[in-house]
Amino acid sequence: MADGKTKKVGIMGGTFDPIHVGHLILGEAAWRQFHLDEVWFLPAGNPPHKKNRAGRATDEQRVDMVQLAIQSNPHFVLSLIEMNPDGYSYTYRTLERLHSQYPDISWYFIMGADSLTDFDTWREPQRITDACQVVVATRNQMDDGEFQTLLEQRKSEFNHNFLRLDTPNLDISSAHLREMIRTEESIRYYTPDNVLQYIIKNRIYK
Ligand code: ATP
Ligand code: MG
Repeated sequence: MADGKTKKVGIMGGTFDPIHVGHLILGEAAWRQFHLDEVWFLPAGNPPHKKNRAGRATDEQRVDMVQLAIQSNPHFVLSLIEMNPDGYSYTYRTLERLHSQYPDISWYFIMGADSLTDFDTWREPQRITDACQVVVATRNQMDDGEFQTLLEQRKSEFNHNFLRLDTPNLDISSAHLREMIRTEESIRYYTPDNVLQYIIKNRIYK
């Protein structure tokens, strides 16, 4: 590899409450488009005041669901580096830790366009772009021109390349799935069957 790194790894961070096909499709699309070796899924820990809220999964359940969802994919990996038991983890810190732990890996941070919209409010965004390539997928029916403009805007603000992930608009969110489960609508095919079974068995999101 030109930068002397020997491996390329994608990072899919999120609360995954629950994980759904949108997350999985983004990971797979990034793996394919950028010739990644692996994609790591990093469920984020909840801070104490957000733990064990009614209608939400516990940290442990979210980790279990990610594990179930990715287990059939040999290049998807679960990482607990953001499962910080006492609160939020900051992306820049995670990336800097990963950098020093794995100096041979170049990192591709994968996000939806909603995250790029509020990227400048994230803690230390410049340190994030210093540490990785940022890969962005469209979301929420964002108009193509608007998406392109946002990518260009971030490029000039951070003097960094923001890469566009080539995916269709995937109209799905964890919030919508939680609402569907609460109102007893079927979420079959919105998440893998084994995750669906886990949600039913553990009566999550009721
Ligand atoms: P919630 O509704 O609880 O916010 P979510 O579906 O947005 O959940 P998150 O765990 O918040 O899922 O998202 C993790 C990352 O995945 C974010 O960068 C988000 O932009 C991206 N993402 C999630 N769903 C989609 C989707 N359908 N299309 C594109 N990006 C997505
Ligand atoms: Mg979200």
